[in-house]
Amino acid sequence: MNNELNELKAPYDVVIVGSGYSGTMVAVHLARAQRGLRVALIDRSKTFGRGVAYGTTDPKHLLNVPADQMGAFPDDIGHFYRWLKAHPANLGAAGIHELRPDAFIPRLVFGDYIQDLLREACALPGTLDIIRDEIVDLTRREGGSFQLIGKSGSKLEAAQVVLALGNFPPGEAERERRVVHEQPVRRRSSCEARRAGRHFDHWHGTNESRSAPHAR
Ligand SMILES: Cc1cc2nc3c(=O)[nH]c(=O)nc-3n(C[C@H](O)[C@H](O)[C@H](O)COP(=O)(O)OP(=O)(O)OC[C@H]3O[C@@H](n4cnc5c(N)ncnc54)[C@H](O)[C@@H]3O)c2cc1C
Repeated sequence: MNNELNELKAPYDVVIVGSGYSGTMVAVHLARAQRGLRVALIDRSKTFGRGVAYGTTDPKHLLNVPADQMGAFPDDIGHFYRWLKAHPANLGAAGIHELRPDAFIPRLVFGDYIQDLLREACALPGTLDIIRDEIVDLTRREGGSFQLIGKSGSKLEAAQVVLALGNFPPGEAERERRVVHEQPVRRRSSCEARRAGRHFDHWHGTNESRSAPHAR
């Protein structure tokens, strides 16, 4: 394992940019499909699997869904709840000593769960490289593959790319839309901008990170 893009034996079958919940779960599902794919999961932050929502370290920040209804697998709704029952130490560390199916569990514990799924996925057959870098450019090459460039200047090739970048700050969203869709952008009213700003502040007030899994 390493975290230097230019040391990797590219090309990958799939490169996933962003290791919040979305990108991590794509990696987990690909690994569990056990098709021998070469997959890389890349994030600019040092903590993988938590993202904005589950990177909080404050146990007062709770999930908005009860324990027995929140999970990583739509065909196995009770998966997270069973994981909680099997990992009382994670609950204890967050100050929870009694588990009820209708409890609203701290988000940081859900982050523990996602990181555990990622650890399991890394141990499965196939390749799942976890790389810390910020992807700053993505281009389509002749023949259809993609080239990604990291902030470090290193390069990576992939047959398929998943962009799981999360939400952009409201101030940048219009710029991004203009670049991607090449359409004129409607100026938001100051009222809309204020609403968006409040929403952003609310959600981002808790973006702290916890440790592991780390980039390799
Ligand atoms: C505070 C908060 C609480 C929430 N609570 C709940 C809840 O209780 N229940 C629920 O169902 N949903 C909840 N959500 C919704 C939740 O955000 C989503 O379900 C999901 O976590 C979003 O994950 P994501 O991977 O799409 O984005 P993010 O978590 O934002 O992850 C994006 C990742 O991409 C990385 N990245 C971005 N650009 C680059 C780049 N160029 N190169 C490398 N890496 C990059 C970032 O570092 C980040 O780690 C909550 C959301 C927030 C913000």
